[in-house]
Amino acid sequence: MNILSILLPGLLAVAIHFGWPVLPASPADPVRVLLVTGGHEHDVEFYRLFQDPAWRVTVDPHPAAFTRDLRQRFDVVVLYDMVRTLDEPRQRHLRDFVESGRGVVALHHAVCANVDWPWWVEEVLGGRYLFEPVDGRQSSYLHDRPQRITPVLDHPVTKGIGPFQIVDETYKNLWISPRARVLLRSDDPTSDGPVAWLGPHPRARVVYLQLGHDRHAHLNEAYRQLVAQSVRWAARRAE
Ligand SMILES: [Zn+2]
Repeated sequence: MNILSILLPGLLAVAIHFGWPVLPASPADPVRVLLVTGGHEHDVEFYRLFQDPAWRVTVDPHPAAFTRDLRQRFDVVVLYDMVRTLDEPRQRHLRDFVESGRGVVALHHAVCANVDWPWWVEEVLGGRYLFEPVDGRQSSYLHDRPQRITPVLDHPVTKGIGPFQIVDETYKNLWISPRARVLLRSDDPTSDGPVAWLGPHPRARVVYLQLGHDRHAHLNEAYRQLVAQSVRWAARRAE
């Protein structure tokens, strides 16, 4: 009996239960990105954020998104969607992807998606837009706010980013998990303050970047660097 015949049944059982493990990618392999949109209009400049030649980006808007198992096809899911509720099969595919330890980068209005899914809100994203009042608190937004953004955590996502100016939408009175690790803060009083954080999931790499409403943000150099570094870190190409 060789070593493979001993190990193979165990590996198969793990793979069937958890999906194939995340194996370290070679630097030469493209980062496989699934970009999910739908449920909110957006400027075409948004797509300029994803023109890195080292990435292979698939765009899949709702309702087609998440209809298949994602684990073998992608390293990181980037969410720029705003669909409030996913059906059970779509939830399962997204959940399997997260539980297998892969990456999630949620941008801007994606904090308004999946708001009725407690596991997603509390264990993955670590934040939620409150469409209805909760304990007398309700979220609101304001467009076109000039503001100064300051990094508050040394991390691969914020590497090389100093304080910067941006004109962007602010959100106020979100629910933000006490387990979220805040990366960036806004100085605008119409913002909660935290505008980027790491989600609390213990295995997946989850980044939420609240900035990114329109072309003012999409063409901002610091924002472009933040998105790029978020994708690379979430895809385990940066430590
Ligand atoms: Zn917006």
